[in-house]
Amino acid sequence: MRILLLALFLLSNLFGIRFEISNTEIKNGQTALIKFEKEDGINYNYAKVEDKKYMIFSDYVFIPVSYYQKPKKLDVVVHYTKNNKEKTKIIPIKVVDGGYEKETLKVDGSKVKLSKENKKRASKEYTEAIKIYNTTTDKNYVDSKFIMPMESKITSDFGRARTFNGTFKSYHSGTDFRAKVGTPIRCVNDGKVVLVKDRFYSGGSIVVDHGHGVYTCYYHMSKFDVKKGQKVKKGEVIGLSGVSGRVTGPHLHFSARVSGVQVDPLQFIKLVNKEL
Ligand SMILES: [Zn+2]
Repeated sequence: MRILLLALFLLSNLFGIRFEISNTEIKNGQTALIKFEKEDGINYNYAKVEDKKYMIFSDYVFIPVSYYQKPKKLDVVVHYTKNNKEKTKIIPIKVVDGGYEKETLKVDGSKVKLSKENKKRASKEYTEAIKIYNTTTDKNYVDSKFIMPMESKITSDFGRARTFNGTFKSYHSGTDFRAKVGTPIRCVNDGKVVLVKDRFYSGGSIVVDHGHGVYTCYYHMSKFDVKKGQKVKKGEVIGLSGVSGRVTGPHLHFSARVSGVQVDPLQFIKLVNKEL
């Protein structure tokens, strides 16, 4: 049976801090949000899950769960200072299986069995992207609800386990929107363009920094309307969809990173929009 995400609200004033958590059962690949009550004398610093640290921005923290995280109980250790004394508070969470579907795809063989040159290129592009995602901008660009990058049918959800050409295994790291070549793509919220590039796997790619460790990505594009370093507004057309990179046909692949972790972009947007 599929376990539904229940919005559980936990209030704790017995243990020194008050907080609310969006969900204590989190599917792999999804995100939880913990909000803290602002109180005199208390400063929230960071939350730690196993060995990964998540910055608390003023009074909230995102806890993104990797797709590869196996179901288990985890402790979110909140580090805060109360009257200049360092303290911790443990918030238990449970990672549950996302129950993602499986699919088999056939793509151009050169995109699965890579030549030495392409391997080098893909690896260089990966390193460059990871460096971006692991950078947390102190600034927050977002102050209103996220929108969808286009109004179109979703053809593939986040998380599907994929087998390419019968051998290579991966998972679908974003949400696909049906889009014939040349469909305008809108930026889902305010931010700053941090990557505009034609890449091996993702083809024409744009990455937007929304601040506080949140990034959105737009792949397989045919035309760019923005430049790296440029500020963008929510709803602004950043370019046109296409069929570039490792694809089976034209579409927009839309994805999101939170504190370096690839997460279900639509679940993340739903979670954040409830607060905005
Ligand atoms: Zn995709």
